[in-house]
Amino acid sequence: FSSVELTRHFLQRINTLDSQYNSFITVTGEQALAQAEAADALRAAGNAGKLAGIPIAHKDIFCTEGVLTTCASKMLSNFVAPYDATVVSRFKQAGLVTLGKTNMDEFAMGSSNENSFYGAVKNPWALGAVPGGSSGGSAAAVAARLVPAATGTDTGGSIRQPAAFCGITGLKPTYGRVSRWGMIAYASSLDQGGPMARTAEDCALLLNEMAGFDPKDSTSLKKAVPDYTADLNQPLAGLRIGLPKEYFGEGLSSEMGDTIMTAVKEFEKLGATIHEISLPNTMLAIPAYYVIAPAEASSNLSRYDGVRFGHRCENPVNLEDLYKRSRGEGFGKEVQRRILVGTYALSEGYYDAYYRKAQRIRRLIQQDFLNAFNEVDLIMGPTTPSEAFDLGSNTDDPVQMYMEDIYTLAVNLAGLPGISVPAGLVNGRPVGLQILAGHFQESQLLNAAHQFQ
Ligand code: GLN
Repeated sequence: FSSVELTRHFLQRINTLDSQYNSFITVTGEQALAQAEAADALRAAGNAGKLAGIPIAHKDIFCTEGVLTTCASKMLSNFVAPYDATVVSRFKQAGLVTLGKTNMDEFAMGSSNENSFYGAVKNPWALGAVPGGSSGGSAAAVAARLVPAATGTDTGGSIRQPAAFCGITGLKPTYGRVSRWGMIAYASSLDQGGPMARTAEDCALLLNEMAGFDPKDSTSLKKAVPDYTADLNQPLAGLRIGLPKEYFGEGLSSEMGDTIMTAVKEFEKLGATIHEISLPNTMLAIPAYYVIAPAEASSNLSRYDGVRFGHRCENPVNLEDLYKRSRGEGFGKEVQRRILVGTYALSEGYYDAYYRKAQRIRRLIQQDFLNAFNEVDLIMGPTTPSEAFDLGSNTDDPVQMYMEDIYTLAVNLAGLPGISVPAGLVNGRPVGLQILAGHFQESQLLNAAHQFQ
């Protein structure tokens, strides 16, 4: 079938089903059909790439030229980006068809997609459950088959955790693998874009297009991009898999533990060997992350001042009033909390006590992983402590919400790649197996994930 037919099929599903899930903020139907026609013409001329004509959706954190780019914030609810993010333009060049922009936690701050100016997203597996966050719209849209694949960003788990909760596959690449240009900044030393799709194979196809050096992002690395689909069936015999004892202790539900161990046994059947390892500083990842990420966010979000773009308050009496009211009205509660925490942590007199200490912990956590990867090839564990929680159940307790990120944050602090693959159901809700590898070992992750699927 043609790309136009495919695009119509998914647009129709979005039209009829998304009122239940709220996974899209913007649907770009007409533009999508025009792109699909162009892809069909290329294909007829024998000029089309592998992914030409395949529909995709972008998390609403990626700038899209001429299309609303809100970051799920009132602050940017009127912002039409004047250019495409590098990730978006690469997909366009490859001929993929953009169906629209997906819902998310405001400025990617959250673990449940309840912090969106456009309302919470519902988990397609259980409408009373959260889809995870912050890339909850992308995860729900893929899970509900409203789109075959979507982009996400992962600053502290935001690709892997929603992928786990929605029963799909999500890959967070190594820091520097994918350009951050045009991806609205949350915490720049942690942010990384990546693919969310049904399978590891689809993620490999998408990563082929996303990855690579970009002169516009000084933190993207000049390192050759392999064909990530080439190694999907490499033998796993002799592969050493490490299970960190800290990922299987207190806080992990017993059903979750059983499901993950059943998954790990599958790798044993394929010839891998299992080793207990230790990542001793795991418990410090939450406090370190929740100082570093807000500190960087407080600086990144200072650009939203009501002057240059975004929300501006009515009738300001002077400049200070303009700043205060524009920001007070434009940012939601969680974003304001992060800005306050970050500004406090960076302020004179507290910098040494919080920010510097958090950076030291970050180094210890990196070292934990480097030591572990001297002994094993891959690390496996649960993506989350439990299956998707109910909507509203953590909203009054930010610290409890932050605890949900216990297994995902350290990976970002260390800049490592990680993938979440569906591992089964717990209480009728999907859960994910998280697989981690050394820097730039995405091929290894995808190979293991693919054979498990
Ligand atoms: N839950 C984490 C936070 O709220 C991670 C978010 C993310 O990865 N963007 O900061």
